[in-house]
Amino acid sequence: TPTRSTAPARHLIEVVGVEKIFGDVATGHRALEAINVLIEEKEFFTLLGPSGCGKTTLLRMIAGFEHPTTGEIRLQGRDVASLPPRERPVNMVFQNYALFPHLTVSQNVAFGLEMLRWKKPDITARVQETLSLVKLSHFANRKPAQLSGGQQQRVALARALAPRPQVLLLDEPLSALDLKLRKEMQFELKRLQRETGITFILVTHDQEEALAMSDRIAVMNTGRVQQIGTPEEIYDHPTNRFVADFIGEANLIPGESLGRRSDAVIAIRPERIEIAGPGVTPRITGVVDNATFLGSDTLMEIIVPGIRLRARIRGAAKLPQGKEVGLVWETEAERELLD
Ligand code: ATP
Repeated sequence: TPTRSTAPARHLIEVVGVEKIFGDVATGHRALEAINVLIEEKEFFTLLGPSGCGKTTLLRMIAGFEHPTTGEIRLQGRDVASLPPRERPVNMVFQNYALFPHLTVSQNVAFGLEMLRWKKPDITARVQETLSLVKLSHFANRKPAQLSGGQQQRVALARALAPRPQVLLLDEPLSALDLKLRKEMQFELKRLQRETGITFILVTHDQEEALAMSDRIAVMNTGRVQQIGTPEEIYDHPTNRFVADFIGEANLIPGESLGRRSDAVIAIRPERIEIAGPGVTPRITGVVDNATFLGSDTLMEIIVPGIRLRARIRGAAKLPQGKEVGLVWETEAERELLD
């Protein structure tokens, strides 16, 4: 049995009070503000947010391509401000793959190991092992132009994984792939992360992708972290309006209409709302505006004074436009939002 240490658990990556201003400190653009993020060993961690929220900037700082204006980035407890990218135990997969077109798949994957001055037999062994990991062994001698987009993506992954970095940074790695391939690669990335035990930090603006792959997610907006948590925590317990609205769908109901504190906003997921059956007192009454049958369920829009509510009802709900309906949900489904 391993010996237990009484030392406090150290985080693999600590982003502490980081701010980033591009250009002049007084007049420049503040891309990040008051960022505090702790990332653990072997975690699949995702930075999720809309375009321009600062997620790539944060990723590039962990890689060492950008530097915080204030604050610190620590790797295994050590401030890495003075470490150039190549001396950090970190590798990055770029959105456009950045493969060398004149080199074969094997040579592309070997490139980083050669830079690190590995011995030839070690390089050969590692390249074979890594190509097998990404299921590309049969393509070792092809050039990138002779591969599909998904295969090129795997080469880029293999190249970044070959030296077995402690941390792999992935900036929108799946955005160039079509939907079906993207879904397949989501499973592949999860598998690679599990099998290698490498910490993955993924940047994406796709909330479904983040929910499907991550151990934890940091939701970002306008240069700030809005919430950090597991996919379940973020989906079931959003702390503010932005998170509730950005992750999945949410009905935002002003507290007043529910007889609560007048400044409160309550979020309810469409799938938690049901049509009140006979004899059941509804929480709220509205008029059906439209109902769209989607196969497994029906998406309904219901107009309640001042709000348009969306409800996802199981099965086919045959309710005509203009019909008055009562709606119910469990109190437990209500989330009071802070702002
Ligand atoms: P996207 O998904 O569109 O890449 P992002 O969330 O990754 O968005 P960043 O690329 O981190 O966003 O950019 C954050 C903000 O900082 C943006 O407003 C961007 O214009 C600005 N920015 C990024 N890099 C620089 C730079 N080198 N100089 C000036 N402004 C920059």
